[in-house]
This record gives sequence, C-alpha cells and structure tokens, in this order.
Amino acid sequence: MHKFILGSTNAGKAKELNELLGDKFEILSAPEKLEVIEDADSFAGNALLKAKEYYEKFKQPVVADDSGLVVPAHSEILGIYSARFAPEETEYSGKIQKLIEYMQNTEDRSAYFVCILCFYLNPEEIFFFEGRVNGEIGHKPQGSEGFGYDPIFYPSGMDDKSFAELKDWKSKNSHRAKACREAITFFNS
Ligand code: IMP
Repeated sequence: MHKFILGSTNAGKAKELNELLGDKFEILSAPEKLEVIEDADSFAGNALLKAKEYYEKFKQPVVADDSGLVVPAHSEILGIYSARFAPEETEYSGKIQKLIEYMQNTEDRSAYFVCILCFYLNPEEIFFFEGRVNGEIGHKPQGSEGFGYDPIFYPSGMDDKSFAELKDWKSKNSHRAKACREAITFFNS
C-alpha cells in the first residue's frame, strides 16, 4: 500500500484521487490547510510547491496536483491561471462566456486539459506524472455535468459532445485519470 497525504484540503479531490489510483494507494486528507502561494511558472512547478510545503510541515509522503485548460493560440490566458481567468466572473458560466468572446476571431480553437501529479516521497525522491486530453474550445457551452470549463471543452473524436456531456467517459479518460494511470504503472513496477 502506498500512503500519501494530499497537498490540498479539497476533500473532493482526495476522494477522486483514491478512486482513480485504486486500492494499492491511500490518499489521506492533510491534517491542516496550508496557504501555499502558487507562483511558479508551470503546472509542475506549482504542483511541486504544494507538495514540498505539505511535506516539510507534516514529514510524510505527499501527492499534489495542478491542472488547467491550455489554449495554445492564447497562451496569455488560462493555463496555470485557469482558475483565475476573468476574476470578475464568480460563476464558471460567466468565465465561459468571456472565453467564447475572447475566442471570437481565433481560427485555431485547439485546446487541451492537462494535469500534473507530483508524488513527493522525500526530498531525494520526487516523481511527476502528466495526463492530457486534446480537444477544442466550442462556440457554445453544452451539458450540465462536471465542473469548471467542462461545458465549453469538446474532446477530440467524441462526436461534438462536451466534457459536461461525457461524465462516464471523462471519469476514465480525463487528464487526471491519465496522470493517475501513469503513476500506477510506475509505482507497480
Ligand atoms: P486545480 O488544479 O484543481 O486548482 O484546477 C485549476 C483549474 O483548472 C480549475 O479551477 C478549473 O478552472 C480548471 N480545471 C482543471 N481540471 C478541470 C476539469 O476537469 N474540468 C474543468 N475545468 C478544469
């Protein structure tokens, strides 16, 4: 059994990672929330900042993640700042509208979700795993499942259905699910 504490206090995330990583892993909530300033310039950098801070405080192996939606045609928005895009909009429906407006004259609508998992066993053993899902930013939101930017992200090869209409498929094929599969393969070998 590989035991880790989660470098975040999001209880939903601990549950999701436990499900995705399966029964050879146990991800426990951290005993206390730490305010980590995520000011690195990459997903991996931010995942490492969280993992390191929780490790230094609790002296136990930590898993931390960082994820977001990347639009290569507009690297100035989203990406590591996905949660902070259009801060005046408190609801994701508003952020999605802003994104649609932003993309109005953009021909290249390709986008991908990415998740980086950082497994911080100790300062000498730190492992990163990445999962990606390629797709496009749609012209209108569709579907009501999921969260965040799901309704406006249309994964490639899925019949013009958005992430928010593909709950079961997403649970097995999301960027987080793929990163977890990489981690499982590594730790099992
Ligand atoms: P975090 O890594 O959990 O902090 O996520 C960063 C941000 O990326 C979230 O607040 C969402 O805006 C976006 N995001 C990450 N994963 C997903 C997803 O699966 N669906 C929709 N939005 C996501």
